[in-house]
Amino acid sequence: MPQKPKVAFFSFTCCEGCQLAVLSCEDELPEIIKDVNIVNFREAFDQRSEDYEIAFIEGSISRKDEIHKLKKIRAKARVVVALGACSSTGGLNCLKNLYPMEFVKKEVYGKNASRYPRFDTMPVKPVDAFIHVDHYIHGCPIPKKEFLSVFTSLLMGSVPVMANYPVCVDCKMAGNICVFEKGMTCVGPVTRAGCDAICVTYGCVCWGCRGFVDDPNVASHEETLKRYGMAHSEVIRSFNLYGERKMEPKAASMKSKTKCR
Ligand code: SF4
Ligand code: SF4
Ligand code: SF4
Repeated sequence: MPQKPKVAFFSFTCCEGCQLAVLSCEDELPEIIKDVNIVNFREAFDQRSEDYEIAFIEGSISRKDEIHKLKKIRAKARVVVALGACSSTGGLNCLKNLYPMEFVKKEVYGKNASRYPRFDTMPVKPVDAFIHVDHYIHGCPIPKKEFLSVFTSLLMGSVPVMANYPVCVDCKMAGNICVFEKGMTCVGPVTRAGCDAICVTYGCVCWGCRGFVDDPNVASHEETLKRYGMAHSEVIRSFNLYGERKMEPKAASMKSKTKCR
């Protein structure tokens, strides 16, 4: 009988909300975990193993000691999946990059900052700044259905498919009235879909937690946001909230992938 694949979940700098999103698949998990051995999952159990084929990595890299641990995981895993915004784009943690690192350290540890050399803080980066990532599950937190789809694809040996169109498509399919019609603004037109535009459906706007779609029409959307009264600095802030997306002075020169670099 073929061996079940060994699956591990790892966590770096984050709130571990994406691991909780995995655990919240309580209706589906009992069925799919019959086909795998989960050997690391800090949110669920104490067991640890250095032997695994598929590694789900949650969290961004914000300390120098995390880089070594991350590279060790890559060396062991046949497949690496970035789990959630922190891991795939740097996520909200990239707000730290707006400040000098010494300032950040003092804000967290106060006058004791120098006692924590172990916490050698550095500008936040997504995991693919250091290792090759095979697949991405976007969002803050990840949508359950996307996790289940990627997980099942990997078990079946097929390549997971990631949405590569804007959230506006999901939004229209959900039957929402566009928030621009209500005098609000939204970054859905440049953000990768796959979340069913859940924030708009529940009365909010899209903040872009899934990062940019490939080839976002940033220049055009910047013009729209300005037409709706946003100053240039506010446009940059809204584009850069989840992951520092390297908004250049001229929007057209902006990089298409969301990176904390
Ligand atoms: S992506 Fe969001 S929910 Fe997931 S670990 Fe990061 S902060 Fe938490
Ligand atoms: S509310 Fe946002 S995501 Fe929905 S259609 Fe309008 S711009 Fe697009
Ligand atoms: S609507 Fe926007 S902010 Fe909300 S989950 Fe989707 S991508 Fe993230």
